[in-house]
Formats: sequence, structure tokens, C-alpha cells
Amino acid sequence: SKAALFDAENKVKITFSDVAGLDEAKEEIKEIVDFLKNPSKFTKLGGKIPKGALLVGPPGTGKTLLAKAVAGEAGVPFFSLSGSDFVEMFVGVGAARVRDLFKQAKEKAPCIVFIDEIDAIGRSRGRGQLPGANDERENTLNSLLVEMDGFATDSGVIILAATNRPDVLDSALLRPGRFDRQISIDKPDIVGREAIFKVHLKPIKLDPSVDPKKLSAQTPGFAGAEIANVCNEAALIAARRDKKAVDMQDFQDAIDRVIGGLEKKNKIISPEE
Ligand code: ATP
Repeated sequence: SKAALFDAENKVKITFSDVAGLDEAKEEIKEIVDFLKNPSKFTKLGGKIPKGALLVGPPGTGKTLLAKAVAGEAGVPFFSLSGSDFVEMFVGVGAARVRDLFKQAKEKAPCIVFIDEIDAIGRSRGRGQLPGANDERENTLNSLLVEMDGFATDSGVIILAATNRPDVLDSALLRPGRFDRQISIDKPDIVGREAIFKVHLKPIKLDPSVDPKKLSAQTPGFAGAEIANVCNEAALIAARRDKKAVDMQDFQDAIDRVIGGLEKKNKIISPEE
């Protein structure tokens, strides 16, 4: 297919205020915003700015959102690609794509490069599968390592990568000078869920019956992506019912629908890897 080589966003509008909960992660990642905004402040005493940080946590918890918010807060471009795009690529294409990405990133620095699902390229080499089947993935991983080593720490390119499987990553990726920092992004607790509900309730016309505290109590185990989904479903359900505002019953039905969807998904996806 003729998919774009990677995504590039020059003006990112997302900021930390769009990311609810995740207070510790935000605190840690703020450091990277400072590095991007004022690198010389940090390098003048001989320190080296980290090249990358790994965002570790389950799907839908806001890793992409947080990475974008770093770019938004620092006012720098955001380049992104997903590891899973590389899985079925022809020989040489993955490595070339990584090289192109870094070439452009260096030209646009300071900037953020975001690699979603890095485990799809970054699995430890020689692990599992038939011999030969992994060659292209390994080429891609090698070119990523070469690129990471090839730019200076003060080049202004900072790489954020997301994974929910840090345990399968090739240890070469985690060495100092590569992804030497890890930031954990956990599923929200009841307080975090309430904060996420408040963000996603904002654009919705609400009936006074709607109580974010009650909604967060009714959604244990939900990640931010599912909460966003609940809010959107509730608005659609209320519209179908010709209501003037979205009420608590609509939210209850939306929660049931999202739980139903999750159960179906868990049945289809096999528990292995
Ligand atoms: P994946 O690993 O599946 O790519 P992710 O951790 O990168 O997931 P995002 O893509 O950032 O998750 O989240 C999906 C959507 O869920 C976001 O665009 C946002 O609407 C909502 N969301 C997730 N987490 C949060 C949060 N902490 N605050 C506000 N919204 C959130």
C-alpha cells in the first residue's frame, strides 16, 4: 500500500491539560519539555540530555496522548510511527523508513519522535518464530539503534516510545544513551477516572443528573480510551432517544455497551502474546 512513511504534525494543540490523572507521569515527563525548550541550560555544566524515554503501560491509558502533549507544551513538531506497521514490510523498507524519519526529525529539531508499539520492532533479536521470518524486523531494529547512536544528545531530537510489553524488548534498546528512562502509565484509579470523565464530559450537553463521581465508581478497570468511548456512546444514545441533554441513564447504557464490547474482544483475542 501507499501509506505515508510516517506521520508528522508541525503544530500540536494537545497540552497537559488534555491529559487527566497521570500526575506522576506528567511530573516526570515535564523534564523533557524543559530539555526541549532550553537545552543549553542543561548541557552547560557538562550534562547530557537523554535521547529517549519509554512510556510503559496497558493499551488506551494515554501514552500517545502524553507524548503529543510533550510536543504541544514545548511547541515542537511531533513525528510518529507505529511498530506494528513494520511487521509485514518488504525487506529493506522498514530500515529505510526509520532512516527517513530521523533525517527529517534532525532537520526539524527540536522535535519529538514517537514510536508506538515499539515491541513490534524491538523484541529481543533471535526470539521465537521461524529462522528468517524475523530478518526484516531485525533490520528495522538495527537501523533504529544505529540512528539513536548517530545523533548527538544536544541535537534536540527526543524519542518517546510506548509499549505494554517492556519484558520482551531487546536489552540493546534499554542501554544508557538509548531508552534509558522509563515512565509508567498505569490504568487510572477511581480518582483518575473521575478526572478523565471530566475532560471527556466537557464537550457534551449534560443533564444535571450526570455525576462524574458515580460514573467513575461504575467503571473499575476502564482505561482512558474506554472512558472517552463511554462519553461518546452516551451522547449518541441520547441523540437516538431524541433527548435534549445526555442523562445518567444514557451513560449507564453506554457503560454496559462498552463492557459488552470489551468482553467480546477478550473472547476473540487469544491469551498468548
Ligand atoms: P495504545 O497503547 O492502545 O496506543 P495509548 O496508551 O497510546 O494506547 P491513547 O491513544 O493515548 O492511549 O488514548 C486513546 C484515547 O483515550 C485518547 O485519545 C483520549 O481520548 C483517551 N484517553 C486515554 N487516556 C487519557 C487520559 N489520561 N486523559 C484523557 N483522555 C485519555
